[in-house]
Amino acid sequence: MQHSVPDLSDKSLLKNQTYINGKWVNAKSGKTFEVYDPASGKLIGTMPEMDKEDTQEAIKAAAAALPELKKTTARQRSKWLRKWYDLMMENAEDLAKLITWENGKPIADAKGEVNYAANFFEWFSEEAPRAYGDTILPSIPGNRVFTIKEPIGVAGLITPWNFPAAMITRKIGPALAAGCTVVAKSPGETPFTAAALAELAHRAGIPPGVVNIVTSLENTAEVGETITSSEIVKKVSFTGSTRVGKLLMKQSSDTLKKLSFELGGNAPFIVFDDADMDTAVNGAIASKFRSSGQTCVCANRIYVQKGIYDSFAKALTEKVNSFKVGGGYSEGVTHGPLIHDRAVSKVDAHVQDAIQQGGKVLTGGQKLPDLGSNFYQPTVIRDMTPSMDLAHEETFGPVAGLFPFDTEAEVVKQANDSEVGLAGYFFSKDLARCYRVAEALEVGMVGVNTGLISDPAAPFGGVKQSGFGREGSKYGIDEYMTIKMVTMGGL
Ligand code: NAD
Repeated sequence: MQHSVPDLSDKSLLKNQTYINGKWVNAKSGKTFEVYDPASGKLIGTMPEMDKEDTQEAIKAAAAALPELKKTTARQRSKWLRKWYDLMMENAEDLAKLITWENGKPIADAKGEVNYAANFFEWFSEEAPRAYGDTILPSIPGNRVFTIKEPIGVAGLITPWNFPAAMITRKIGPALAAGCTVVAKSPGETPFTAAALAELAHRAGIPPGVVNIVTSLENTAEVGETITSSEIVKKVSFTGSTRVGKLLMKQSSDTLKKLSFELGGNAPFIVFDDADMDTAVNGAIASKFRSSGQTCVCANRIYVQKGIYDSFAKALTEKVNSFKVGGGYSEGVTHGPLIHDRAVSKVDAHVQDAIQQGGKVLTGGQKLPDLGSNFYQPTVIRDMTPSMDLAHEETFGPVAGLFPFDTEAEVVKQANDSEVGLAGYFFSKDLARCYRVAEALEVGMVGVNTGLISDPAAPFGGVKQSGFGREGSKYGIDEYMTIKMVTMGGL
């Protein structure tokens, strides 16, 4: 098998070992797993296939580093995060190349991700010194009451492949700011970006045992079980599918861990008759087709009011026809491959189901075998109905299904007819409607007249079966802290 190698200016960012207790290590068993470039299908390299024993070792290292970390000032932790941020920005080109290489997204998108990811370190370097407690007026005369926010302890972090850098920094940033040590299980599909981030943590001077990365592909369930059942790990933060989230919640129940889950979505995207057409079309392009539709906040069900349905469908199709699909490094490529051929099969199944039930393909609708086994045409389908698979399952691919609707009440009901509630979007110039619909949507995040909502300064998270807990923002750090109340009597 031929290796595909990105041209990194700092080759030492490319690892074939992982980082535990401040050292680069192999799996104790000596086993490795292979990672493939989703665009070319070529072997990228190998990483340690870790198991229960390796994971326990990482947890032990995190536990041993915790007492010293707890003694550090918030200002010190802030400086480490700031240094880590600076190093990410200095190495942004190389990090972006790694992301494109293992995830497939076009290099411009990968650069955007590096910036977004690094911003979590910057944001939480600023939040660390502001994790204040309260002074409380007591109900009992003579008492004094106050609270202290304390780090919860060792945190287990499990993240997906669709944002190989940002999903990790969004968790490690607040954990380290709070004073927690971490054991992060990097995604089997994209472990190289995580390893490069660990190298930069090392260069930033973060002490051994504070950041530990466990790698696995085949043994992922075993690694997950070791983290969730550990008495030492006090917190698990997971981003991934609702199915795996439910499993991890069950596994965590015996040790009653604090949990935060960022799970799957099925975002409604509503375009009202009074919307600005260009804004709505551009919003749909950004929200639906970014990362080839593989983001948890991607528009999945696009509802368009009947008065503008035909013109919106035409304008969206024209834009989609201007996309260039290919390998993420190639000049002019706007959209890359999906992560693996199982993703392509799921996307195609949703398209075929829509066609069988009367949906009309306006563009796309086919696999792209000439480019490779992981490519699918950006697709627009009209005349969608609520009985189609795409209406109630996350497609996680480049398919825009357009559902017609008549009234606001009808579309809000349809939008909320979902077990999950992560993001929702709508487009309208009517201010009263903007408040009304933003309040009516059963989701954790609403985009009004925009398709892009991710911002380290804003709380990210869902409701219903999209999970609970918030990442980023002033709330993000609380997920890694406990509130201790102190009452002093007899004063
Ligand atoms: P997934 O749930 O299969 O995997 C996510 C991570 O969990 C991976 O690192 C995987 O290795 C690990 N994992 C899988 N099984 C495990 C187990 N038994 N124990 C421990 N770890 C396990 O999800 P995926 O298909 O890789 O990612 C896509 C999903 O993630 C989509 O549903 C998407 O919506 C969701 N997602 C959500 C957010 C969010 O913030 N809400 C962000 C990105 C992705």
